[in-house]
Amino acid sequence: MDEPAEKSDVQTETISDELITFKSLGVVDVLCETCKDLKWTQPTKIQKEAIPVALAGNDIIGLAETGSGKTGAFAIPILQALLEKPQRLFGLVLTPTRELAYQISEQFEALGAAISVKCAVIVGGVDMMTQSLMLASKPHIVIATPGRLVDHLENTKGFSLRSLKCLVMDEADRILNMDFETEIDKILKVIPRERNTYLYSATMTKKVAKLQRAALKNPIRIEVATKYTTVDKLKQYYLFIPAKFKDVYLTYILNELAGKSCIIFCATCVNTQRITLMLRNLGMNAIPLHGQLSQAKRLSSLHKFRSKNNSILLATDVASRGLDIPHVDVVMNFDIPSRSKDYIHRVGRTARAGRAGKSITFVTQYDVELFQRIEQLIEKKLPLYKTEEEEVMVLAERVAEAQRYAKIELCDSKIGKKKRSNDQDTEDGHGMKQRLKKKRKR
Ligand code: AMP
Repeated sequence: MDEPAEKSDVQTETISDELITFKSLGVVDVLCETCKDLKWTQPTKIQKEAIPVALAGNDIIGLAETGSGKTGAFAIPILQALLEKPQRLFGLVLTPTRELAYQISEQFEALGAAISVKCAVIVGGVDMMTQSLMLASKPHIVIATPGRLVDHLENTKGFSLRSLKCLVMDEADRILNMDFETEIDKILKVIPRERNTYLYSATMTKKVAKLQRAALKNPIRIEVATKYTTVDKLKQYYLFIPAKFKDVYLTYILNELAGKSCIIFCATCVNTQRITLMLRNLGMNAIPLHGQLSQAKRLSSLHKFRSKNNSILLATDVASRGLDIPHVDVVMNFDIPSRSKDYIHRVGRTARAGRAGKSITFVTQYDVELFQRIEQLIEKKLPLYKTEEEEVMVLAERVAEAQRYAKIELCDSKIGKKKRSNDQDTEDGHGMKQRLKKKRKR
């Protein structure tokens, strides 16, 4: 892969910034009209930079803050290229999470409404057969998570991506991580080398080896965010408390923030579920979003939160990247993220589209090193979130009771049962082997 070239400032040299329109960037009338219908009166910064570069046929490495309009920055040029040379299975967008795939598809469909663009979302947790039928009808754009796409490439008769013209990796640093290595290698093997590739992310790896895997050609690097910063309107705080009182502090803060829309990030599915149950026992309107829920439940939780039916969303990192929910007032890191970059993605769920937002990161005696790493990454010292310990502790008894009930409910649930069997496997080291033996005997 060639070293990415920095973008020159041709556009802004000739036209002052306010006068830049979708039309002046080279977007065709029909798409300009759709932008107008969507009330996108002016292109955003990343769109101003990326659209002309993509329309000129270049590959792109785009670094843009969450909520910057990056989906439009790649969707508009792809739709324009599709209009010029109409063809089925034209573009593929890879995303790390299912929810993000649906969100991107909605934007493609909205932007492509006037040209009847057909999209297929191919993600895990949904019936393979239904998806096979969708693929058989040859959509223009496929938006997929890597694992399920590979399943179809290997098992769905008649489906291939040999004619693909555009590949997008959204949240590219995550897609190019080791956890998707096998899938990405398989996908890249079966798509044409002659194509356009766009990588987008709020945080982007500088590791050349990783970027090389995406097989970009003379990519242009476009950066509208300063390195690993978070938006100005975001007020970030930390809370230093003993681990055993985390639940009480969370309850106290949520009481304080009553009526605000909050996302609370937890480290594991089980903890996410446990806290949801605990908060519900305390009369709060909480819903969970994590990888052990069915896809229908995940989408339903997201829908309820998006439509403001529920104001508290408890989530694992499946919700940390890219999700665009404009009304989130507060993000809490109940469990500190173990990868510092995830901090940027998580807090990026608030203070979107020019609005103000707040983030509160819980730091316990075990998290100090991780917290210092986050402060180093964002080059900021965070202020302490002020609480009155005495007032907080008044809630301790009620919270303990809610915790007890939550534990019982969790034990009775599928997730709790799964956890117990996993614990058994790790505790005695034989659980899994014994089950396998039994199965073989049968
Ligand atoms: P994204 O960063 O792609 O997730 O987009 C964030 C939000 O900005 C989405 O709700 C888009 O509909 C919206 N958006 C994208 N481009 C524009 C624009 N030019 N003007 C106004 N809103 C936009």
